[in-house]
Amino acid sequence: MVKKPEKLRAVLIDRDGVINEEPGPILKPEAFRFVPGSIEAVARINQAGWLCLLVTNQAALARGQMNLGEFSAVTRKMNRELFRSGARMDAMYFCPHHPDWDAGKKRSSPKNCGCRKPEPGLLEKACRAHGILPSETVMIGDTTKDFEASRRFGCFSIGVRTGHGGQDGTCSTKPDCWQDDLASAVDWLMGGETMT
Ligand SMILES: [Mg+2]
Ligand SMILES: [Zn+2]
Repeated sequence: MVKKPEKLRAVLIDRDGVINEEPGPILKPEAFRFVPGSIEAVARINQAGWLCLLVTNQAALARGQMNLGEFSAVTRKMNRELFRSGARMDAMYFCPHHPDWDAGKKRSSPKNCGCRKPEPGLLEKACRAHGILPSETVMIGDTTKDFEASRRFGCFSIGVRTGHGGQDGTCSTKPDCWQDDLASAVDWLMGGETMT
């Protein structure tokens, strides 16, 4: 159990299942739909003066289900809709890899990267780029990969019940606390709600 930061400087957020609904991999802008309240939650993170850093696994790139241009189109839609509501992501870090896939082809033997969560590489990269320490950030995610990446990185983790709601079964790691969704997590970080 890691302590909630006394001085929070950045919020690391997983994308699929936290910012947007996740019926499956999001391959086109039309498939990207915000979880209710998530745009406003990002705006409140911005207003609090905390950096908002997206850290997302995008294995559909390795699997050849989408290319970088299509991924960028999804990102542009997200950013456009956030911007319309006066909200913004300060930066995004994504892992395009998968241990079993490379450029749409099945690998002959698995190869692990250091950035696909539950590896902590994306979290490290995001925080290093902004001079943030693990003790100055929290990670908000919907899967055990997010919780395990946070544990390895050494930051506080908040699990949300949207998306996979922690039921993905990849790792046995639990988050340091649970909240219903991104909006409730931000409420809690701002000091309102009690830990559940
Ligand atoms: Mg997710
Ligand atoms: Zn990777």
